[in-house]
Amino acid sequence: MNEIKAPKGTHDVFPPEIGKWQHLENAIRSYYGRFLYQEIRTPLFEHSELFSRGIGGETEVVQKEMYTFSDKSDRSLTLRPENTAAVVRAVIENNLIETMAPLRFYYFGPMFRYDKPQKGRYRQFHQYGIEVLGDDSPQVDAEVIFAAVDFLRELGIAQVQLELNSVGCPSCRPAYLEVLRQAARAEGERLCADCRRKIDGNPLRIFDCKQHACGEAARRFPVIGDHLCAECGEHFAAVRATLSWMNVPFELNPRLVRGLDYYTKTAFEVTSGQLGAQNALLGGGRYNSLVRELGGPDLAGIGFAAGMERIILHLEHLEPPAPRPLFVAYGESQWLAHAVQLAQVLRKEGYPVYVDYQGRNLKKQFKKADRIAAAFTLVLAADEVESGSVSVKNMASQQQSKIHLKDLNEWLKKNY
Ligand SMILES: [Zn+2]
Ligand SMILES: [Zn+2]
Repeated sequence: MNEIKAPKGTHDVFPPEIGKWQHLENAIRSYYGRFLYQEIRTPLFEHSELFSRGIGGETEVVQKEMYTFSDKSDRSLTLRPENTAAVVRAVIENNLIETMAPLRFYYFGPMFRYDKPQKGRYRQFHQYGIEVLGDDSPQVDAEVIFAAVDFLRELGIAQVQLELNSVGCPSCRPAYLEVLRQAARAEGERLCADCRRKIDGNPLRIFDCKQHACGEAARRFPVIGDHLCAECGEHFAAVRATLSWMNVPFELNPRLVRGLDYYTKTAFEVTSGQLGAQNALLGGGRYNSLVRELGGPDLAGIGFAAGMERIILHLEHLEPPAPRPLFVAYGESQWLAHAVQLAQVLRKEGYPVYVDYQGRNLKKQFKKADRIAAAFTLVLAADEVESGSVSVKNMASQQQSKIHLKDLNEWLKKNY
């Protein structure tokens, strides 16, 4: 029969790589807990409308990359392409605004985008991220950015660059978009057909176009930084000042607009040059209109999302500790019951223990012990069972000692 393969753009994770994932997940829990973030888990699929309304109908993500399907009741559902809209939906729906404080969340898990698979990029990929709701102060922007960059440093990813911009707000952006439209129209046929279509809707999305000519044109466009209202300008200045207090270096990138429509004011991206080409590790920003757009109250928000596969690629140096199993061997099958019971006792003490049930001779059991990289093999045979003891062989030094079962725990504490 034909072998069934995993779908394109997906990947399996197993040892030893799984150790890096567990390390990263544990690090997220422990690091972001220090800032009072708590975990939130939302469904892998949502009503499609959540993303078209939340992310923006004209973004690449919504137009080209979503896994959208109808269920048996003809509802349009979408596998989540990102998690901010879902977190905001969950906060509104569960009335967390009233019942939880502070409104700080972290998450990690799979996201889905029909994208071109390449190194570190998959169709089922994983993101972790944080979201802060209900705080509009520029200091919280800086704290979120600090927590994004400092976490990477703690993981051992040192060579990161932070790019920063402000993308304005509903009071200054419309006027800027008009200026941008004029500039885009003046480019005429130099822009690709896709970008010409974006001019009337959201011309900011032209900055995301990967066509060379459009990128060239975008470099001639006016930038939002020259059109910020006083409030956005002051907010952005305070974010930069706080980052300086926090000793977080950054570069201003006036063309950084992020690929999702919900961003307002602060936008940022963190890249790493460590693996050769510039590699985006995470991106985020403020989204002060999103809660209202999704039917909630007027509540500010800010957060970021990071690509876990990309970060795992940067953890090559990391060697998670391998388990050091105890192998319980038995001389003849009549001692199997003793072996099973000894294994139970040792597991209760917290040791990883393996018993080979196939009734093979001791020589073959020792071979198996080598294959699973056992630290010690504990042998039960006639001698041992009669004297209430066990022979313990240190697999590295080949040293063997006979230990009374009542002393075994004490002995392992010293020697394991
Ligand atoms: Zn503004
Ligand atoms: Zn284009």
